[in-house]
Amino acid sequence: MKPTPQAPFELVIVSGKGGTGKTTVSASFAALAGNAVIADCDVDASNMELLLSPTLRTKEDFTGGKQAVIDAALCTGCGRCARQCRFSAIHPAADAGRRRFAIEPSECEGCGVCVAVCPRKAVSMHPVVGGELFRSDTVFSPLVHARLKPGLGNSGKLTTLVRSRARQTAAECGRSLIIIDGPPGVGCPTIASLTGASQVLAVTEPTLSGEHDLARILELCRQFHLPVQVCVNKADINPEATGRIRKLAENSCVTFAGEIPYDEAIAKATRKGKPIVSAQPDSPAAKAITALWDRFASGS
Ligand code: SF4
Ligand code: SF4
Repeated sequence: MKPTPQAPFELVIVSGKGGTGKTTVSASFAALAGNAVIADCDVDASNMELLLSPTLRTKEDFTGGKQAVIDAALCTGCGRCARQCRFSAIHPAADAGRRRFAIEPSECEGCGVCVAVCPRKAVSMHPVVGGELFRSDTVFSPLVHARLKPGLGNSGKLTTLVRSRARQTAAECGRSLIIIDGPPGVGCPTIASLTGASQVLAVTEPTLSGEHDLARILELCRQFHLPVQVCVNKADINPEATGRIRKLAENSCVTFAGEIPYDEAIAKATRKGKPIVSAQPDSPAAKAITALWDRFASGS
């Protein structure tokens, strides 16, 4: 890896879906690197903290979107906004015999149409606190993580904010490496976690769905011209599928970085709340992940 003084090297670890071992690899890399900044971009199901036992340092609200509110005193109850709302978020409200309307916050998508159509200027848009952003310390490195409120969107925007704070933290702490635990899938949050990455590691499993999801990740990286490598977790449970994944990587002109064997030590380490390379460094999985890390650290 060749970091520059201006921009840290950003290694993003992704998978086509959850449960492939992506966070196991990310947390182990964080432990092995020792002098990085860790960014947990899986803001819908943040779980790096379960393996890194962070001590919270700062917390801030994330205002990721807006919602409409009707001023009851100005509303004449004409119903125009309710008829135009594509999300059916505006409903008649009981108000001492006076006809008026109110907006159900959980149904409002913040499109702003109701503001535009109200003849009384009774509707206005207001920022919504959609989650929280945290900066913590761990025994390995600073951790930037976040939590999106259930049912709220904008996870891509919060992911971008986590990365931005991680870069800021790297600059403050003089760290030249950011290890990013990306969200699962290939949606907006994953794209937000990949944009501008220095290197991507795609973690998959030797199953049909693992192959399918990996193909989608590789296509995404190809579109964004990102350097990507592939590793297979639990590779020995299905050598045939692992072989096909090697072939897929080869056909996609992507480096096959290595295999991690199935190892019950991982589950035991997770129950202890530790990365496998710290909890059981001599286990087969820890050795395989350490070899993967050595490969990245040497820039090969
Ligand atoms: S368009 Fe304006 S005045 Fe009419 S129901 Fe909606 S908020 Fe009330
Ligand atoms: S902002 Fe859009 S979604 Fe929300 S209530 Fe108004 S029209 Fe409906």
